[in-house]
Amino acid sequence: MPKGEINMNYDLVINNGLVILDSEELLTDVAVKDGKIAAIGSDLGDAKEVVDAKGLIVSPGMVDAHVHITEPASGYRDDWEGYLTGTAASAKGGVTSFIEMPLNQVPATVDKKSLDIKYAAGEGKLAVDVASFGGLVPFNLETGIQELKDGGVAAYKCFMATCGDRSIEGDFMNVDDYSLYAGMQEIAKTGKVLAIHAENAQITDKLGEIAYANGESTLAAYVATRPVFTEVEPIRRAILLAKETGCRIHICHVACHEGVEEIYQARKDGVDVTCETCTHYLYFDTSELDDIGNVVKCSPPIRDKAQQTALWEQIKDGKIDFVTSDHSPCTPDLKAAPNAFDAWGGIAGLQNNVDVLFDEGVQKRDLPLTTFAKIIATNPADRYGLDTKGRIQVGKDADFVLIKPNSSYTVTPEGLEYKNKISPYVGREINAQVARTILRGTTIYTLEDGVQNVGQGEFIKL
Ligand SMILES: [Zn+2]
Repeated sequence: MPKGEINMNYDLVINNGLVILDSEELLTDVAVKDGKIAAIGSDLGDAKEVVDAKGLIVSPGMVDAHVHITEPASGYRDDWEGYLTGTAASAKGGVTSFIEMPLNQVPATVDKKSLDIKYAAGEGKLAVDVASFGGLVPFNLETGIQELKDGGVAAYKCFMATCGDRSIEGDFMNVDDYSLYAGMQEIAKTGKVLAIHAENAQITDKLGEIAYANGESTLAAYVATRPVFTEVEPIRRAILLAKETGCRIHICHVACHEGVEEIYQARKDGVDVTCETCTHYLYFDTSELDDIGNVVKCSPPIRDKAQQTALWEQIKDGKIDFVTSDHSPCTPDLKAAPNAFDAWGGIAGLQNNVDVLFDEGVQKRDLPLTTFAKIIATNPADRYGLDTKGRIQVGKDADFVLIKPNSSYTVTPEGLEYKNKISPYVGREINAQVARTILRGTTIYTLEDGVQNVGQGEFIKL
């Protein structure tokens, strides 16, 4: 376009930022029209809204492929994270879309009826776009898998570790080996991916019982009941069943480099398997757990510094496909138990993905910006078929996070948008900040004015 021509056809132009594209980063401008990226280049002309991104990184908005929202909760977990607070935290954290897990909400999302209940519960409350996992449980093999596909889920999720509260009707439930096998056969027919929580249920349960009976109560003792091999063994089992059934699989929140290596080798051998790790495994290590307390309890557990260093290397090597928050908060009372074994396992981290990963990865470990964009946005969008998301490219949704590098701040409870303002990141100094978040061309957060334009988000139905 000739220089100086006023093009009021664009709704928004983002000028002067360092824009992360698929294979390079460029100091350039990006234009948006009707919620889509319309042009990338210099001298794009004027627009209805102009954002000056000088000194900022313009990244695709994060696609967090592992988030738990507990709504509806049907009187059981009503004070846990909801859509309003969860998606507001997402906006503030630079996460423009996430894929919501099928558990913790009551009823769990395992068939058409429960999926419709969930969509209704989120109606009008979303600050960002939300796609859904459907659950694979021992009791939905007959018709549930197909109903969930028809209802637009992006993928499926199951637990090989024990989960769910059997005193709550409609709560989620882990698979046994048979229902995992039969479920994979059903899911293979849909062509979608099955995401798996891979920990050996029997061994971790029993080691936990023994430690508890012996009066163990620390987080260090809890970690010891979930050793590395209890992650690696079910990863192998899942890969074997995937080979047998032709089901595409993804291993969630891998916390050990041995697990990642298994997945990488299987992929080289032709198995359709990918994996994620979580921001907290890349940030916390076992040396600090009992000082932080139960707020950092999760499963698989936080591991030692050597594991963390190895996971960062595997991210650089492309062996870990993407990073998620596994945002899984609860109420403060469930974290207050004096005995770590009694506390709820789950970390509130949705709001601190982008800043922590930028600071720890790009700034401290020289992670290339292109790799950063792949692990937070491009790879999860591609893996789960969110075709309009995940990259800055003409025609894609205009979802951006503008990052202010080398800008230090301390995480405070008041700064958290979560319903329950607890997180292991509280008190931590992070040397990068989300300056602005844009969802399909609309600014939904700025550092100056906070979360805005709530209600712009939509459920993504595939
Ligand atoms: Zn989870």
